[in-house]
Order: sequence, then structure tokens, then C-alpha cells
Amino acid sequence: MDCIFCKIASGEIPATKVYEDEEIIAFEDISPKAPVHVLIIPRKHLATLNDAGPDQGALIGRIVLKAAGLARDRGVAEKGYRVLVNCNQDGGQEVFHLHFHLLGGRRLKGMG
Ligand code: 5GP
Ligand code: ZN
Repeated sequence: MDCIFCKIASGEIPATKVYEDEEIIAFEDISPKAPVHVLIIPRKHLATLNDAGPDQGALIGRIVLKAAGLARDRGVAEKGYRVLVNCNQDGGQEVFHLHFHLLGGRRLKGMG
């Protein structure tokens, strides 16, 4: 499958990985929008959040908790951070492999 995040997960294309295990992988966003901008993805290819079902509940939970753990590791947990998923066109999704953004290290604007 021609999916850039599957290729990052498999190691076929490089990324600055900050965490990986058998289910999930976290890496630096190539075009960071904040001093901390990490993407956390499942290894399994799910195109969007719409493709995650009840079977993926634990996986999604692990990803969100990993985002919180990475925020702690980067020292932004106390000041605060944002974890977000863009879904499909109106959500501004550009890469169609489910990913959670961890953003922090600066004051983020409110939702417009
Ligand atoms: P989306 O808009 O789909 O939620 O976010 C996609 C994110 O993936 C963007 O923040 C973009 O900078 C990042 N991205 C796109 N291609 C690559 C890549 O090849 N490597 C890395 N590390 N990040 C990427
Ligand atoms: Zn994929």
C-alpha cells in the first residue's frame, strides 16, 4: 500500500522516531507547528478515525496515554499541550493513516 505512515512504521522511509512498540509508533512531525510536534500512529493501517471500531478502543486509549507520556517527557505537561486528530476533508486531514498530533511548547490558539 502506498501509505507514507505505513512506510515510516516499517522503516522503509526515515523518520525521527521517539517511541515504538509492537502496536504504536511516535515520531517528530516533518513540518512542526509548535516546539513539540509529535505524531503518534497505530502500526495497523486505519485511514481515518472513522475506521476505528470498538476493537481498536484499547489501541486508541494507548495512543492517547502515550501522547500524555511524551508531553510529560518533553516537559510541557504542566504548562499544557494539545492532542488532536484531523478527520477527512473538513477536519483538514492530509495523510490518510490515522495519527494523533501532540502539540506543545507554545500557547496554542483556540479553535476557530
Ligand atoms: P494531517 O493534516 O493529516 O492531520 O497531518 C499530517 C501531518 O503529517 C502534517 O503535520 C505533516 O507535516 C506531517 N507529515 C507529512 N508527511 C510527513 C513525513 O513524511 N514525515 C513526517 N515525519 N511527517 C509528515
Ligand atoms: Zn498506512
